[in-house]
Amino acid sequence: MTPTQRRRHSAWSEIPAATWADWRWQLRNRVTTLEALEPLVELTPEEREGIRARRGSFPFAITPYYLSLMEGPDCPVRRQAIPHIDEMQRVPWDMVDPLAEEEHSPVSVLSHRYPDRALLYVTHTCPVYCRHCTRQRKVGDASSAPARSELDAAFDYLARTPSVRDLLISGGDPLSLPDARLDALLARARAIEHIEVLRLCTRNPVTLPQRIDQAFVETLRAHHPVYVSTHFNHPAECTPEAGEALERLADHGFNVGNQMVLLRGINDDPATVEALNRWLVRHRCRPYYMFQCDPVEGTAHLRTPVSAGLRILDALRGQLSGLAIPQFAVDLPGGGGKITLTPDRLVRRAGRALTFRDHQDREFTYVDGAQSENSCAEEGVPRSAHSKPA
Ligand code: SF4
Repeated sequence: MTPTQRRRHSAWSEIPAATWADWRWQLRNRVTTLEALEPLVELTPEEREGIRARRGSFPFAITPYYLSLMEGPDCPVRRQAIPHIDEMQRVPWDMVDPLAEEEHSPVSVLSHRYPDRALLYVTHTCPVYCRHCTRQRKVGDASSAPARSELDAAFDYLARTPSVRDLLISGGDPLSLPDARLDALLARARAIEHIEVLRLCTRNPVTLPQRIDQAFVETLRAHHPVYVSTHFNHPAECTPEAGEALERLADHGFNVGNQMVLLRGINDDPATVEALNRWLVRHRCRPYYMFQCDPVEGTAHLRTPVSAGLRILDALRGQLSGLAIPQFAVDLPGGGGKITLTPDRLVRRAGRALTFRDHQDREFTYVDGAQSENSCAEEGVPRSAHSKPA
């Protein structure tokens, strides 16, 4: 299910290997217009219409590498990157800023919702504009890049807010900045004594794995502990190049976690999530969150019911080690923050006797906090803590 061969669209077959592996070349040669895309992909009328309709609101951009992974119209890579006319559907509960990030911004370019964490936006560009992006209100607009004065105000705020111990560096995709800029930003954060952990939030391992080169890891390892949160959504993205990027990060001491987003018809089934997570763990990336897609305008056609996430989690338990099972999270619209959901395994409660079902739907009883056999007898708890009704 995961690609074992390096792939390259025939349009770029003559490009020398060293050029193809150069992330700057990949960025310079992103496909960003309908005219450039038409000769490369046989577009459906709905995609063509979607590209026209989204012009001026949420652009598209695709690296040659990511485009080379695309297949037919139902391809999970293609559906994440090429606009579709369904993006124009609106439902009443859609929002522009579903996580209320703007309301929790004490200074521009910084969101501070939880006491110990803050999120700094350092750029609004990304190699690929994911069609399910929660921040599509601002990403893709290069002119809205944070000004130096805004970053100064953000670092001043961080320096005078000792509750912040964990700084998420996000965007857009922070890896759109050159190494020297990232190095300077991380050094500035590290100079604030109470900031203990830095997190880089990036989809580059997925859409532009060439970006994770030797220079990048050697420059940024100076700022450890640096965690990397990445965003693989489907095994079709699990290429040899992506695997090498994850391995290189791990080899240089970066702790890498994955935050997938559940997307209708793309990854909303247990077998897909299982294959993805097995690959991630093999490449030393911990499946961290499986997110319910946020109710952001333009994503109604991609959203799944919450029950789909619970069903997937239920199916994974017993198939996969806990190491490969993510937390299923809903980021509450309006700024309530993340909550995590788990399938309900408690079947019934009788006094201290709690009966649960396991991954094979067998029932087992756990006696909760009983002090002695006598106290169990007094409370009518069965002598055997295990029962297995038919
Ligand atoms: S990489 Fe992240 S910020 Fe950029 S478009 Fe994709 S989801 Fe949005």
